[in-house]
Amino acid sequence: MDKDSYQVIVVGAGPAGLVCAKILHQAGIDYLLMDKQPPGGALLCDYEFKVGSTWLSSLEYSKKLCSFPVRYCMGEVVRIERQGLRWAVVTKDAVHVGDVVVIATGVTHRTGGNVDSERVIVGPFKRAYQYHYAGKSVAVLGGGDNAFEYAALARNRGATKVDIYSRTVRARPELIEEASRLGAMLRSENEISLIDVSDDVIVNDTHYDAALVMYGFEGVELSIASDILPRNGQKRFLVGKGGELNVYVIGDCCEGELSIEKAENDGKVCGETIVRRLG
Ligand SMILES: Cc1cc2nc3c(=O)[nH]c(=O)nc-3n(C[C@H](O)[C@H](O)[C@H](O)COP(=O)(O)OP(=O)(O)OC[C@H]3O[C@@H](n4cnc5c(N)ncnc54)[C@H](O)[C@@H]3O)c2cc1C
Repeated sequence: MDKDSYQVIVVGAGPAGLVCAKILHQAGIDYLLMDKQPPGGALLCDYEFKVGSTWLSSLEYSKKLCSFPVRYCMGEVVRIERQGLRWAVVTKDAVHVGDVVVIATGVTHRTGGNVDSERVIVGPFKRAYQYHYAGKSVAVLGGGDNAFEYAALARNRGATKVDIYSRTVRARPELIEEASRLGAMLRSENEISLIDVSDDVIVNDTHYDAALVMYGFEGVELSIASDILPRNGQKRFLVGKGGELNVYVIGDCCEGELSIEKAENDGKVCGETIVRRLG
């Protein structure tokens, strides 16, 4: 085999892809792990993560996951296409060919067309968590758990006013109650417009210091596989599809819970399945 040809190509070096790659490595399978950023995936940020019941820093976690000599190549995959009975994994600069492809590309925050800026924060976690809420007025857009959790967090951290704009409320009742107890106001409006102007943001004619856009997640849109494998309305791959094509999808990018444990478990099951099939 030349150097651009492998038994298995794993796309995405988050927990799912890394665990899968580790099992392939231990079984002596000739694999390549690819990612557009260094290994670590969504965890590659300065944050603490709960894995099971243990909190780990992202650094400790990445170290634990990368505790083997991972064969890794940086590159953004733009397409996967048939090459005879094999698969060509295409980046802007290179083509790698594999018998089997594993897609572990995770999810992305739904933006609703809004652009992340200093005052408009798209998605939960690090930036939303670290924002300095004291003395600020904040609009939260979204009706899910994250919207209500962050509305409560903003009030707890001293935001003077928090309005939650939601077309449909889907959050758990205890989160809705907590946000309301802390004084966040629910504004159930059908149309929600957000304008980011020079010194503040305007949501449906009301001015705020900042807006949090909490519209949930969707699978990473990759033309690489959307014409090969079916997706649901959130652009996430359907579980269990593709194995017969030698294309596996694992972790956050396929339906189900978004969690490190689920991603690791998917990576393990997928790695073991491939080892059995190729071994
Ligand atoms: C800040 C933060 C805190 C979190 N806290 C927790 C927690 O406490 N507990 C918990 O269980 N879960 C937590 N999560 C969720 C958890 O991180 C995810 O469930 C987990 O990382 C999913 O792993 P994954 O391998 O499926 O995807 P990801 O970790 O998202 O990895 C996907 C990888 O694919 C790569 N990729 C995407 N598209 C391409 C492409 N076209 N070409 C090449 N590479 C590509 C990305 O660069 C990324 O590295 C948190 C997430 C974040 C962001």
